[in-house]
Amino acid sequence: MMEEVRKRLKEAKKVVVLTGAGISQESGIPTFRGRDGLWKNYKPEELATPEAFRRNPQLVWEWYNWRREIIRKAEPNPAHLALVELEKRYPFFYLITQNVDGLHQRAGNKNVLELHGNIWRNFCFECGKEYRGEITPQVPRCECGGYIRPGVVWFGEPLPADVLRKAWEVSAQAEVFLVIGTSGVVQPAASLPLVAKEHGAWVVEINPQETALTPWVDASLRGTACQLLPEIVKGG
Ligand code: NAD
Ligand code: ZN
Repeated sequence: MMEEVRKRLKEAKKVVVLTGAGISQESGIPTFRGRDGLWKNYKPEELATPEAFRRNPQLVWEWYNWRREIIRKAEPNPAHLALVELEKRYPFFYLITQNVDGLHQRAGNKNVLELHGNIWRNFCFECGKEYRGEITPQVPRCECGGYIRPGVVWFGEPLPADVLRKAWEVSAQAEVFLVIGTSGVVQPAASLPLVAKEHGAWVVEINPQETALTPWVDASLRGTACQLLPEIVKGG
């Protein structure tokens, strides 16, 4: 299977990648659904919502402080670096990510589409004014008086329309589409591999476990991103 992936990649000119929390797991950043995803016994689904922030902005803020600390100390891993290498080979390459940690850009990827925002950005919950995503003990207030929130997309919120449109458009053009470290249950991101497939792409999943996308993909490689991606990219 590994050989087939390498062969397909060699023949392709247009490659699109979709990454999820799994690719940053080996950088020490917990996924939402993994064993280490809990914080003070809260599930991420209970904190990453506009309702949770409205109910208790300070609690949600402290959870993001904890996540920002982890992300600040984390480094891009060999899987992130393999994707930088891959980008250099193609005239058409897009890296669509659901991650908010910015590690793909720190690793050196250029064409990154952030579907769910970035944890190092903030904006006002009331007026939308943008701020830098800093770690402060208290949830800060905007000059309008509103609370400032992390610049990430929460459950139940729409994705940035221009980014989603672009992601959809490039997915439809992909010849090879890699899905890495995503459970395939968060929409609309999980639809992008299917859009690619409908338009003729060869879709391969890289994940240690079966996912909601497994029945639909052309190939599944079972292993971690750091075990498999450097191997896939090795030797051109
Ligand atoms: P998820 O937590 O639902 O799923 C993670 C997937 O990664 C699982 O399928 C798991 O089997 C797989 N995985 C775990 N370890 C892996 C490894 N070492 N290599 C490859 N795959 C591995 O994550 P999701 O589907 O991306 O959705 C959760 C949402 O939460 C995202 O949309 C994102 O916005 C947010 N989130 C972001 C970060 C981050 O920025 N690093 C972390 C957690 C959650
Ligand atoms: Zn404001």
